[in-house]
Amino acid sequence: MDKERMPQELRSRVERSEKLQERIRGCLMGGAMGDALGYPVEFMQIDKIHSRYGEAGITEYEKDPVSKQALFSDDTQMSLFTANGLLYGQTVSVLKGNAEPPRYYVYLAYLDWLETQRGSEHGGSIGGISWLSDIKDLWNCRAPGATCLDALYSGERGSTENRINHSKGCGGVMRVAPVGLFLRDQDDMAVATEGAEVAALTHSHSLGFMPAAFLAHVIKNAVNGNGQVKLNDLVDRAKETIEVLFAQRKHLEVFISLIDKAVALAGNDASDEENIAAIGAGWCGDEALAISLYAALRHEGDFSSAIIAAVNHSGDSDSTGAITGNIVGAMVGYDAIEEKWKEDLEIKETILEMADDLCFGCLIDPESGYDDEEWRRKYVREGMR
Ligand SMILES: [Mg+2]
Repeated sequence: MDKERMPQELRSRVERSEKLQERIRGCLMGGAMGDALGYPVEFMQIDKIHSRYGEAGITEYEKDPVSKQALFSDDTQMSLFTANGLLYGQTVSVLKGNAEPPRYYVYLAYLDWLETQRGSEHGGSIGGISWLSDIKDLWNCRAPGATCLDALYSGERGSTENRINHSKGCGGVMRVAPVGLFLRDQDDMAVATEGAEVAALTHSHSLGFMPAAFLAHVIKNAVNGNGQVKLNDLVDRAKETIEVLFAQRKHLEVFISLIDKAVALAGNDASDEENIAAIGAGWCGDEALAISLYAALRHEGDFSSAIIAAVNHSGDSDSTGAITGNIVGAMVGYDAIEEKWKEDLEIKETILEMADDLCFGCLIDPESGYDDEEWRRKYVREGMR
């Protein structure tokens, strides 16, 4: 990136974005950290977690014995591919003036992610739209959700109007934080809508996509708040949007009352374990979001305590860790996150790179002739659709 050579408009955008860079990094890296903390205990009951890690539960990364790295799961993989699809779509639009909505390109990126699930022995460039396919460490099967796999294998592209299954799993919400980051300059309704549609590519039940709309909304406003907002206010604001956007949807009330319950529990004296058990296990989208909001509200401003609370329960620990990490990371910013979570997280340079790409957006400007070699290498693909 060469700011000196940039046309004025692009340079102003980049300079505006620089102020939010740390929060965007906090959101994407925070998600990977919470995911990596929770991944080893995803399928463990709380009693087993206690007997293995002690009364406080798992409080540090359990690193891979071979690579000595903390490994993240499908949640982070799919979040990264979400970002890749969004940025590819933006580049198409800049270069070709095309009008497809972001969700369309995210779907193409998910098809690339699906390829990576064949495992590392197949790793390599596949000629899709995603430069992430070139990262060998992403060619790993890390307990991907059956709904995501089935939906993508089916060849049918779901939407909030085109139901392809009945799933309300959390596989929709756990991957949409980048939508809030990427669309941070759009209005609340547009961000919530795109969050829902990105989740509905694979999850057709309203409790699968409404939480994604909610999360994208919270993330957008957390990042723009730049440390000056309270999470409680962001939750209230998201509720207002969601209640309008999904006024006609079944399960809206069920969803909102679970969010209200999480907010209320965050203010009581009971333990995190008791409170989270009262919300649910997090396998479904609404429960995963509610547990994450609970942990983020209860431990507002304290990244480490929030992700530790979010993963120590009998349910979907990596997804609740990931979503909590996204939210709290966006609230506190990358620099406020303890070093111990940054060390030994696998492919952290790639995650930071993707965060910065989300931060600055397409760095090619055909009108002025400004070009960026790195951007072109990643986001301009052969046979660009
Ligand atoms: Mg996972």
